[in-house]
Amino acid sequence: MALALGAGLVALAIVFFIVQPVAKGLHASLEREDDELTETEARKRVALLALRDVEYDFLAGKLDDKDYRSLKGELTAEALAALEADEKARAGTSSDADAALEAEIAQIRAGIRQGIFCSDCGAQNESGSRFCSSCGHALHAAAVS
Ligand SMILES: [Zn+2]
Repeated sequence: MALALGAGLVALAIVFFIVQPVAKGLHASLEREDDELTETEARKRVALLALRDVEYDFLAGKLDDKDYRSLKGELTAEALAALEADEKARAGTSSDADAALEAEIAQIRAGIRQGIFCSDCGAQNESGSRFCSSCGHALHAAAVS
């Protein structure tokens, strides 16, 4: 009897040890970006919440050991997949934004390179400009080549 109680307490301590960082991590992410959850962030949150619920249900005695193990295995796999997807999504959006910015910069550079020089003041204007940005003199399309 004493042995079973001791083993039970050890199991409880282990589960508590596992739950704590999960619950903490969950809190941190909730506080950080609650207003703008992406699809992958939402998936991650759901997976972590489900994992936490399984731990609580097991602690409350609603789940037996077999159910707990199989559920936890599934949910841990899902949580890991969700975390990975979220990491990828973050990396994806940042590199996409970088690529868009690079393209924009390249476009502006190209525009300046083939820009129109004002026949009045000599200022260089972006290609497609109809009036000089420096003096307001009308620019001629013929100047573009
Ligand atoms: Zn001008």
